Amino acid sequence: MIRASLLCLLAALPLQALPADTLPDLGDVSQATLSPAQERGIGFSIMRQIRQSPTFLDDPEVSDYLNQLGYRLVAVSPDTRQDFLFFPLQDNSVNAFALPGGYVGVHSGLLLTAQSESELAAVMAHEVAHVTQRHIARMVAAQEKQGMISLAAVALAILAARSNPQAAAGAIAASQAQALSNQLAFSRDNERDADRVGVQILERAGFDTHSMPVFLDRLQRSTRSLETGAPTYMRTHPITYERIADVQGRIYDLPYRQVPDSLEFHLVRAKLRAMQREPREAVAYFDELVSERKFANETAARYGLITALLRAREFARAAREIKLLPQAADSHPMLALLHGRILAGSGKTQPAIDWYRKQLIAFPNQRALVYALAQTLLDAKRPADANAVIDARLQRDPDDGRLYEMQAIAYSALGQNMMKHRSLAESYVAQGNIRLAMEQLQLALKNNNGDFYEVSGIEARLSQLRTLTAKQE
Ligand SMILES: [Zn+2]
Repeated sequence: MIRASLLCLLAALPLQALPADTLPDLGDVSQATLSPAQERGIGFSIMRQIRQSPTFLDDPEVSDYLNQLGYRLVAVSPDTRQDFLFFPLQDNSVNAFALPGGYVGVHSGLLLTAQSESELAAVMAHEVAHVTQRHIARMVAAQEKQGMISLAAVALAILAARSNPQAAAGAIAASQAQALSNQLAFSRDNERDADRVGVQILERAGFDTHSMPVFLDRLQRSTRSLETGAPTYMRTHPITYERIADVQGRIYDLPYRQVPDSLEFHLVRAKLRAMQREPREAVAYFDELVSERKFANETAARYGLITALLRAREFARAAREIKLLPQAADSHPMLALLHGRILAGSGKTQPAIDWYRKQLIAFPNQRALVYALAQTLLDAKRPADANAVIDARLQRDPDDGRLYEMQAIAYSALGQNMMKHRSLAESYVAQGNIRLAMEQLQLALKNNNGDFYEVSGIEARLSQLRTLTAKQE
């Protein structure tokens, strides 16, 4: 049981070939525990690999939903100082895992298997608890007694552990991999502690705590069913009768709560289903769901159908279907985006642009609408207008890598090569790739346009990044 619960993170991501010399030197584990900065450093370098993985789901709506739900849990956790980042992975197995530094991955399989939002929240609360209880920091620090292992090696082992032992052995010396996988395991006490704190978090956040043992029990029962993908979760979070009984004991006195699922929960699930299969199959799936009224939420079922129709490029039918939604398209940001995509896909470019601008007044925090507006302007060959939208948003969120990528396209269309390279540099910084960022800044200086302020801004940024990498060496 202890071996198998290796960091709860044996997600089925392919292991990227990772030469040890590309890892930042994070120092060695000579302290009693990891500093939050060291933990964040390990997590960040693992995330850089995950972002390049084909299963990484770069969808702003799914990801924003997970972070909203996640932060609702974090806000009532025992330690609210820790930063978190929740991210989705397109993977049918039922799994969630915490990395050092507050990074929490959630598989699409878990989102689709959970039968209520409380069940999803229960699994996420368990992961949040692993982080706030500093199980990872303590576990890594405990290795000090076993001998000095650099944190870079730990990052590598964590990454390897998500894949298979052979891959781990290929990435680092087999003996070292073996030693690390023995040491990087949560204890039975850690698991129990994560359940205990997880129940507390779930209760305080207003979810139904009884969903936790219900979900664990259902997963355990379905282990033999191949379709559910339960084995992955079982491998990483062993569910024993003892664990279920322990959780049941903790919630014995807590009242049952009828907690209605949010509309986002249903919409995000419908979106994942609509993206999963071939577009034609997805349309057929939702057509059946809608015509036979086999849905928990009509808006979400119709939303799924329209999303599938957009993938199949059936814009005329999508335009008819959106009128059948039980609620107006401007009543929810995800429906608003859907309506804008129909307009843009039908060639109604100006109405789409006007629609997005209007919706952004109603939903100013919805970055998916910002991306859609900027992209529609770029497609309409209006790079200067796209840039104005992007600049305004970057004032609020200067770390948004996707905005910098679109900005680079806009600058390229405007023939401003120096600024294009500067934007690409910032998109690399957002991904954590400082070396490529510095290359782009050097390219920017080679395309010097003579503007004194812009050039000195690039030089200053370059020396800032140089200092940053020097510190890591
Ligand atoms: Zn766990």
